[in-house]
Amino acid sequence: MVFQRKNWRNHRTRNMLVVTLLIFPILILSACSGNSNNNAKDSSNNSKNKNTAFKVVIDPGHGGEDNGATGASGQYEKSFTLSLSKKVKKLLEQESEMEVFMTRTDDSFISQESRYRPKYANKLNADVFVSIHGNTFSNPSVSGTETFYYHNNSRQFAQILQKHVVESTGFRDRGIKKKDLFVVRDTEMPAALIEVGYLTNPADESEMRTDDLQSRVAASIVEGIKEYKEQSDEQGFLNGVF
Ligand SMILES: [Zn+2]
Repeated sequence: MVFQRKNWRNHRTRNMLVVTLLIFPILILSACSGNSNNNAKDSSNNSKNKNTAFKVVIDPGHGGEDNGATGASGQYEKSFTLSLSKKVKKLLEQESEMEVFMTRTDDSFISQESRYRPKYANKLNADVFVSIHGNTFSNPSVSGTETFYYHNNSRQFAQILQKHVVESTGFRDRGIKKKDLFVVRDTEMPAALIEVGYLTNPADESEMRTDDLQSRVAASIVEGIKEYKEQSDEQGFLNGVF
């Protein structure tokens, strides 16, 4: 009996050793795979912070055969939008947390049918999209700055941009408006279309063509983007906490 018991005890010890030997590698494997998942997650987050930061798409309205509005001076809207957009781009390039992309950087034509502008931003998985325009109306005395958006999650972004741009132009505040425009409708991120001012208003147009006003407006757009980013960062933080 004693011998048998001893044998049984030895048997039990051996079984326990076998089980331990079997479980241990499984534990190590699962710990490793857990780690590698975390690492993959971390590195993708890091690469997002490092490589993409806050992605901003600037969309200079019109281009090429699409002149946009003809201003009081006879100059086209497409040249105003490109000139201002390039200033915005330059300023955004100085922001370490931002990465800027343009739908066009020269007088290229982008067909509306191609839906290239929103598709470009969607493909980039951009954080915000800003389309830059100058307004037109038959009555040359009409003046003011307005911003369009479409989806409800773009309303706050449009509101912030409008506030800053109005401050910089000093034109009448025509407010923000919800409008079914494809560039703000087909974009999957907060998107706004700014009508900086009326190119058909001779006084406003001559100001809008100056380097001075364009620099001020460009700075105001960047301020607006930064304010929106801060707000959404805080919102994200609060959502994470609660
Ligand atoms: Zn336009």
